[in-house]
Amino acid sequence: MKIGVIGLGFVGLSLTSVLASKGKDIVGIDVDDEKCANIKKGISPFFEPELKKLLKIGLGKKLKISTDFSLIKNSDIIFVTVGTPQRSNGSIEISMIKSAVKDIGKILKNDKKNPIILIKSTVTPGTMQEIILPIIEKESRKKAGKDFGLISNPEFLQESTAIRDTKFPHVVVLGGYQTRYMKKAEKFFSEIHPNIPIVITNHQTAEMIKYANNSFLATKISFINQLSNICQKIPGANIDDVAKTIGLDPRIGKLFLNAGPGYGGSCLPKDMKALINFANRVGINPTLLNAVEHTNNKQIQNIIHLIEKTLGSLKNKHITILGTAFKPDTDDIRDSISIELIKKLLAKKVTLTVYDPKAMKNTKSIFKEKIRYADSISHSLKNSQCMIIMVHWKQFEKINDNSINIMKRKFIIDCRRVLSGKKLNSNYYAIGIGKA
Ligand code: NAD
Repeated sequence: MKIGVIGLGFVGLSLTSVLASKGKDIVGIDVDDEKCANIKKGISPFFEPELKKLLKIGLGKKLKISTDFSLIKNSDIIFVTVGTPQRSNGSIEISMIKSAVKDIGKILKNDKKNPIILIKSTVTPGTMQEIILPIIEKESRKKAGKDFGLISNPEFLQESTAIRDTKFPHVVVLGGYQTRYMKKAEKFFSEIHPNIPIVITNHQTAEMIKYANNSFLATKISFINQLSNICQKIPGANIDDVAKTIGLDPRIGKLFLNAGPGYGGSCLPKDMKALINFANRVGINPTLLNAVEHTNNKQIQNIIHLIEKTLGSLKNKHITILGTAFKPDTDDIRDSISIELIKKLLAKKVTLTVYDPKAMKNTKSIFKEKIRYADSISHSLKNSQCMIIMVHWKQFEKINDNSINIMKRKFIIDCRRVLSGKKLNSNYYAIGIGKA
């Protein structure tokens, strides 16, 4: 079986590496020359646990990486994993997916194989039927369902556990017409993911499932963040105990109940905006989704308010930010709340020093010489008047009285309650814990 993957980002490269490491005959295609050249050498364009190892194993087997679309000819299965970023009005930008499926259509025109094309990129309901299907049929002069299969196959992986999630997804969703291609796709997934539920539905429901999933997760986060703000006003109250306990109720579930500075990353904010935009377009006022987003946007103001309450005017104050990635175990800073906070503090003329174990290169590419970059926690804290922990990196747990001795003012805002179990000799605020 020959497999093609179009788009070698977080989703595509994780999928490619997992399948290639199992010895599958797979070709990964991307439009980015430099990215492809690096991947061919075993260099991953981003950090993701286990990825480099699997990529190397795959490259030693049958994996091919190229910018040349013609290599997908004769594929049995083609995954489309290109980006669908956000437009300024909240809707998704689909030019990349249009271009990718146009190229696939052109190859299909002279292809003797009848491949199954699986769209993993996140697209709003209707995109498959109204945009993707007509483009492929026009370019290939072939019929979906007869000459090739076309299936919506949304992806649910999380960055930082992308490889594990690719190997062991919680569900496989297959949306499309009930043709022989659907049966083949079901067989393919049941072989590579035995015992994992496969949901077969139509295109538009599959597309909607992805948005339902992410908007529910965002709702859980905004919910717990709002409760954490209430807890902060109750001396001694602790949001983690609240979250842990309600999470024991199986109707609620314990995941995505970590209070913090708000949700960020390349998916939740974008998917929320896209769903809100979509709901408005179809005449539904998404009051709950709007509130979730509004709560999220306000969370960062709460942090700034806490800093100003203690430091007064922030002009020329020296502040340290620990963690710039949107979560631990990734170097991805797309839509990271930490990056937003840096921008807001720079507007207030703060002197900023940042440290992140993995995301320094990406952070530098945005802020260049506007902020200072430390190569360790202790380096970042020298002469600092406030430390803000934005991301729960494991190594931040080691911070102790010795580490903060070099601060000019021992003032800590811990957005992740990394140090809440320690009695540090400092003015310590934790998001979600009422100061006694
Ligand atoms: P990404 O931006 O990391 O990667 C997309 C890749 O596609 C890039 O390497 C880009 O060069 C390439 N590309 C763009 N146009 C192309 C074309 N015409 N032909 C070939 N390659 C092309 O994106 P990502 O984070 O992997 O996300 C991909 C899709 O999956 C998006 O729709 C996203 O919403 C969705 N998704 C992402 C995640 C995640 O955690 N990152 C999780 C689930 C779903």
